[in-house]
Amino acid sequence: MRLGILGGGQLARMMALAAHPLGITCAVLDPSADPCARPVASVIRGEFDDLQSLYELARASDVITYEFENVPVESARWLAERVPVFPPPDALEVSQDRIVEKDFFAKLGIPTPAFADVLSRDDFDRALRGIGLPVVLKTRRFGYDGKGQCVIRTEDQIEPAWTQLGGRPLIVEGFVEFDRELSSIAVRSQKGECRYYPLVENEHRDGMLYRSLAPAANTGEELTERACEFAERVLNELNYVGVLAIEWFQDGPRLIANEMAPRVHNSGHWTLEGAACSQFENHVRAVCGLPLGSTSAIGHSAMFNLIGHRPGFDTILQIPGTHLHWYGKETKPRRKVGHITVAATSADERDHLAAELLLRHDFTIR
Ligand code: AMP
Repeated sequence: MRLGILGGGQLARMMALAAHPLGITCAVLDPSADPCARPVASVIRGEFDDLQSLYELARASDVITYEFENVPVESARWLAERVPVFPPPDALEVSQDRIVEKDFFAKLGIPTPAFADVLSRDDFDRALRGIGLPVVLKTRRFGYDGKGQCVIRTEDQIEPAWTQLGGRPLIVEGFVEFDRELSSIAVRSQKGECRYYPLVENEHRDGMLYRSLAPAANTGEELTERACEFAERVLNELNYVGVLAIEWFQDGPRLIANEMAPRVHNSGHWTLEGAACSQFENHVRAVCGLPLGSTSAIGHSAMFNLIGHRPGFDTILQIPGTHLHWYGKETKPRRKVGHITVAATSADERDHLAAELLLRHDFTIR
């Protein structure tokens, strides 16, 4: 079977690595000459809205998926008329626009922060009055890793935020004083079977994912069930196929949806060593019509992103239970260039090994 992937970054690379043992070969469409997935997939170089390139990808694929949500929906729809595309292009449409996404959650009865659509300065002032400080002002589209957003805590931060972001379609969200951030990684097969990895606890720094711990501690049955039930509403509503991630703010017993990603997700990277079947393999299995693998955790994992710099591989790999995933990319400020997972049989041992890792490498985002 031949799997086509829109995007040739590290997520495509890890999907292609998972596809290989299943006898599935991958072709990626990517605008860059030397995408991250090049060593493990054939590359079609082209823009995501170039019909000739899309046509080539369709010819090279039995099924098509994508590794990031900013692929033009029209391109996904054009492809879907020729080759099955999973997750469905409707999922892309929902996740590309923060207002559409929040309306979608609300329609399904999934709690969100208070939010308001901002197209003009009047809308902005009205939203500030309605929601009240603190708020987060974000671009509706194309924001990621904390880009295109400003936290406004005090009156004197209002004008600078508007100067920075005004003039584009925006969303104002109430700032959630959360206890912690969690994410659900779920997968749905072509037959409609849904499976869920254990909840993941995520720490962001400077808007970027710094560390994930899985399974998240002290989630309890009720919270876990609520997260699965909310995720299932999204999966079934979209007739979804593949891996879906939903990021949550936890406030006591409440789960508040921040955003969803219709793809494999950074907070699911721990599953490579820490789960019976990784998110990458399960995504490939789902989109290729194969039975799903187990989403059970094996022990306790921590995942740290490598952002903007290369660690000493030797020093890190000396720590037992440590795995390095280097994406082979040039290091640049605020660029994810790899990740490290620590897998152990208990949470205590995992925390002990993670502390050792932090002594040997400074994971500060650069
Ligand atoms: P996002 O790009 O929307 O995922 O935002 C990146 C990070 O900013 C989140 O993981 C949170 O740590 C923080 N953040 C975003 N929106 C809010 C909010 N409404 N309330 C509190 N923190 C937020």
